[in-house]
Order: sequence, then structure tokens, then C-alpha cells
Amino acid sequence: MSHAAIIDGAAFAAGLRSRVAEGVAAFRERAGRAPGLAVVLVGEDPASQVYVRSKGKATVEAGMLGFEHKLPAGTSEESLLALVAQLNANPTVDGILVQLPLPRQIDEQAVIEAIDPAKDVDGFHPVNAGRLASGLEGFVPCTPLGCLMLLKDRLGDLSGLNAVVIGRSNIVGKPMAALLLRESCTVTIAHSRTRDLPEVVRRADIVVAAVGRPQMIRGEWLRPGATVIDVGINRVDAGEGKTRLVGDVAFEEALEVAAAITPVPKGVGPMTIAVLLRNTLVSACRREAQPVPSGLC
Ligand code: NAD
Repeated sequence: MSHAAIIDGAAFAAGLRSRVAEGVAAFRERAGRAPGLAVVLVGEDPASQVYVRSKGKATVEAGMLGFEHKLPAGTSEESLLALVAQLNANPTVDGILVQLPLPRQIDEQAVIEAIDPAKDVDGFHPVNAGRLASGLEGFVPCTPLGCLMLLKDRLGDLSGLNAVVIGRSNIVGKPMAALLLRESCTVTIAHSRTRDLPEVVRRADIVVAAVGRPQMIRGEWLRPGATVIDVGINRVDAGEGKTRLVGDVAFEEALEVAAAITPVPKGVGPMTIAVLLRNTLVSACRREAQPVPSGLC
């Protein structure tokens, strides 16, 4: 039986973070200031608190300035928009990230659209989504850009390959498909209404799974030799009152069929923060008209 290579996202992310840290040092030298990332958290969602904490830590480790804004769960949309306006106007802030999801009283889309597209390091602003769709320079959402980096590192030129993206969210699926199209893949986007998903997946040289359903994609659906990127993060019961994280792909089964696969955890997950730091450095360079260091993509 064949056995897939495991794509070490944690190691790749560590390498990217150290390249970013070098770029940050050079930026500080030239600009006389550090790149700044503002992270806004509204409420006490435990998962969001963990993400924000690790983003803050990673920002400082990369030599950047981290601005953390923690607002109570009852914050009004108006006061959040006022904070975003203040961060837009602050010249020491190069990147603004508002941690999602937001409490119900706040219109998420209104907040995303209030962020200056030039500081939108999450790449969720419609201007940046449009720029990606049009093949223009902008900010690309961190998770799919991280997936693309892993794919290019593994496969080199992606041109002409059949790629199937499962999931069509604005955060992962849609930008992932746009990136793969930009690399000249033949791209199929599958979603909850797709008919005969196994048949669609069987055509894929590249499978990107971003569904949020534990181990939904079975090994027997895969084309032998496919490269599989598993974005899903699902917490499942591991017995004895414990839980564990699994992806959207039945990992053990896929190992027997695929050529390469990202594990969960330590696959795509660590790439997201590394790319966020990368996007923040790129933003700082663009805003100060400095060259973007090579080796960041
Ligand atoms: P989402 O819920 O917004 O989107 C899920 C998509 O899956 C939808 O487009 C839906 O059409 C599709 N879908 C649902 N059921 C399906 C089915 N039976 N068959 C085919 N498609 C189906 O989720 P999201 O924000 O895109 O995240 C997807 C997963 O990726 C989640 O597990 C999330 O936790 C994970 N995620 C991981 C990272 C990371 O850093 N690694 C970042 C973002 C999201």
C-alpha cells in the first residue's frame, strides 16, 4: 500500500515566520518604526480569546507592535465602528484585524467594510476580494494563502492541475478557488448543494477541504496520487471525557491513497497566523513605499 507524505505546515509556518522577522528587522532599520498590527476582540468567545492571544504573542515575536483592543460583549456597532475609524487614522497601525464572529447586535459586514482596505490584512474587505477576483494586487485571506503556499512548496507549478475546493465561504473556499485559478488550475467549487461529491472529488489532483464536518471526505473518494489540504478543524469526542481535533478528511484512509496530505492539527492551522504576520509586514512596506522582501510568498 502506498503511504502519503505528510505536509508539515507547522515547520513551513515556522520558516515563514522567521523570514517575516528578518523582513521586519530590515523594515525597522529603514522606516525607523516597527510594523503595527491591531487586533480587536469583542466579547468573551473562548476560541476567539485563544486566537487573539496567540496572534498577539506571534506579533511581538516577529518584532512588530501589537495593539490589542478588548471590548465587552455588549459593545454597540457604533462604538466598534468608531474604534475602527480611529485605527484607520492611526499611522502606526499597518494592519487591522477584527476577530470574528461578532456579537449579534453588530453587523459583521458593516465592520468589515469600515476597515481601510490598505490595512485589511485579513483580506475580507470587498475591495480586496474584488482585487483578488480581478487578478490585482491586494490582501488575500490568510488561511487560503497559507494553503496555496503549502501547495506550491509541494508541487511547484500548479498550472493545468484539476483542483476541487470543498466549501464556498468568503473566508476560505471562495478566495482559495480564486488563488488556484490565478495559478492556472482548472477549479471546481463544491458545496452543500453539490451532487455526487465523491465523483467530483475523484477528478481532483488537488483537494482543498473547508467544510467543517469531521472526516467527511473519505479515502475512497480520492484520486490516487492526489494532494490533499485539510482546512477543517473539528473537535470530536475521544472517549473518557476527552476531545481531540480532526479535519474534514478521513486522515488514515487518505494516507493510503493520496500522495501528500496536511494533518490536523499542525497542518494548515499554523499557517494562518504566519500569513497574517506576512500580510502585516507587506502592508507596512506598501504604506512606507518600501520594497516587499522576497521569499514571503
Ligand atoms: P463555513 O461554515 O463558512 O463554510 C462551510 C462550507 O462548507 C459552506 O460553503 C458549505 O456550502 C460547505 N458544506 C457544508 N456541508 C457540506 C457538504 N455536506 N458537502 C459539501 N460542502 C458542504 O466554514 P469556513 O469558515 O469556510 O470553515 C471551514 C472549516 O475550516 C471549519 O472547520 C473551520 O473551523 C476551518 N477553518 C480553519 C482555519 C485554519 O486556520 N486552519 C481557518 C478558517 C476556517
